[in-house]
Amino acid sequence: MNRVWLPGIVLLLAAACGGGDGNGGAEEVPEDVVVYFENGNVIIGDGSPMIEDAAIVVDNGVITAIGPRSEIAHPPGADRYDMSEHTAIPFLINVHGHVGYRRNNDFGSHNYTPENAQVDLNRYLYYGVGAVAVRGTDLGDTAMQIRDAQAGSETPHTRIYTSGRGITAARGFPSDRDELSDVPIQVSNETEARQAVADLAAMNVDFVKIWVDDNRQISGQVFRGGERVNNFSSVPKLSAALYAAIIDEAHQSGLTVAAHVRSLADAKALVAAGVDGIIHSIRDQAVDPELIDAMLENDVFFTPTLARHQIEFVYCDQPDWLRESFLRESVSGAVISRLTNSAVVRGYCENLNEPTRRQEFARAMENFKTLYDAGVRVGLGTDSGAAETFPGYFEHLEMELMVEAGLTPMEAIHVGAARSAEILGMDDLGALAVGLPGNFIIVPEDPTADISASRNIAEVFFRGERVERSSMMVDFSN
Ligand SMILES: [Zn+2]
Repeated sequence: MNRVWLPGIVLLLAAACGGGDGNGGAEEVPEDVVVYFENGNVIIGDGSPMIEDAAIVVDNGVITAIGPRSEIAHPPGADRYDMSEHTAIPFLINVHGHVGYRRNNDFGSHNYTPENAQVDLNRYLYYGVGAVAVRGTDLGDTAMQIRDAQAGSETPHTRIYTSGRGITAARGFPSDRDELSDVPIQVSNETEARQAVADLAAMNVDFVKIWVDDNRQISGQVFRGGERVNNFSSVPKLSAALYAAIIDEAHQSGLTVAAHVRSLADAKALVAAGVDGIIHSIRDQAVDPELIDAMLENDVFFTPTLARHQIEFVYCDQPDWLRESFLRESVSGAVISRLTNSAVVRGYCENLNEPTRRQEFARAMENFKTLYDAGVRVGLGTDSGAAETFPGYFEHLEMELMVEAGLTPMEAIHVGAARSAEILGMDDLGALAVGLPGNFIIVPEDPTADISASRNIAEVFFRGERVERSSMMVDFSN
C-alpha cells in the first residue's frame, strides 16, 4: 500500500542537518539518527507558555529531551539543526474533515478513490496537520486500508481516522445533494439503524457519524459558485428514536457517535440521548445553560467548524487570504480562478440565504466562545475537504477564527493540538514532549503574538525528519 500514499514525497534526513557527526556514514543513518534542534522557540501544544531559546533532541524519530537550551546538552555526535530563531508548533489535529472528493472544480463522491484521498492527506501533511478524523464520507474500505497501512509506519503521513459512511434518515440530508446522494446510509426504522451500526462496526470504523438536519433553515434558492444549484426544501430528519438506537448500538460496540447538527433543540436532544460529539456549531440561537450543563455532565466534545460556516458568504467578501500563496500552494489555479471570478462572486453575494448565513456565522462565533469559556471539551474541526473548504489551509484559518472569537493565540493552538488529540484518544500526537514523535512545523514569526503567523510555514518535520514539501505540490494541481 505504500505506493498509494507517498506520491512524490522524498525524505531528506541528512540534508536538514549539519552533518559531520562521524558516526559511521550514510548507509547506517536510519539505524541511529539523533538531531539537536536549537536556536528557536518551542510551543508545547498543551497551553503552557512558549519556551524561548529552546532545544529539542529527537532520537530515531522520538523526542528524548525538550526545554530551555541551557538545560539540554547537545548529545555527542548528534546532528545540529539551526531553527534560525523560528518557532516550533506541534502538528495540528483535525477532528472533523473529509478527503478525496475534489478534482479541480469537480466536487463529489464520484471522485473518491484511494489516490485522491491520499492527495488530500498529503495536503494535510503539507500544512502540518498530523491527523484527520473523516466524518461520514469514506466509501467502501478505502480509508480503513489506508489507516491500517499507516500503523507503525515511519514514512511521513497524516493519520486518518474514519467513520466510514455516515447515517441519516431515508431521503435525509445530505442525500438530497446530487454530489453526495450515494454517501449516507439511509435508515427508516430501528432495525435498519442498528444494522447500519453493526455493519460499520464489522468494517472496523473508528467512530460513527450521523446527520441530524432537515434543511429547513436554508430552504429556498441556494447558489454555489454563482449558479443556482438547488432549490432546497425540507427533508426528513433522523428521528430521536432512530438516533437513540444508533447511539445505543454504537456504544455497545465500543464506538462513539458524533452528530452533524444545526439547531439548539437537536443538540439538546442528542446530548440527552448520549451522543459523544457535536461537530458543527449551533447556529439557530444562543446556547443556553441547559445545553452547557448537559454537555459538561456527559463530557460531550464540540468542534465549531467556524471556517466551514464562514464559506457560505466569505467568497462574496473576497478575503485577503484568497490571495495568499500559502493557500494557493495546495489549491489548483482552476479553483482559485472560479472563486475569484466576478460572476461567481456576484452569485455568492446575491445568494438569497446570504444574510441568514452571516447571522448564523456570527452566532456560531459567539456560541463557540460561550462553550469554550464554560469548559466544554473543544477541538479543532473544520469540515475541510467538503465543498469550497481546503484541507490543511483551513485548519490554520480555523485557529485565526478562534482568536477572532475571543481566544488567545496560545489557547487556539492548545485547542488545535493537545485538546484535539485528547478527543481522538491519541496519546502520541498533539504536543511536543519526551516520548512523543518529533512531529512539528516551524514558522518564522511568533504565532502567540499573531496567530496568522502559523500560515507561514518554513518547514515540516515528521519524526525529526524534514518533509520535502515542494515535491508534494506536484500532486496538488488537481
Ligand atoms: Zn463534515
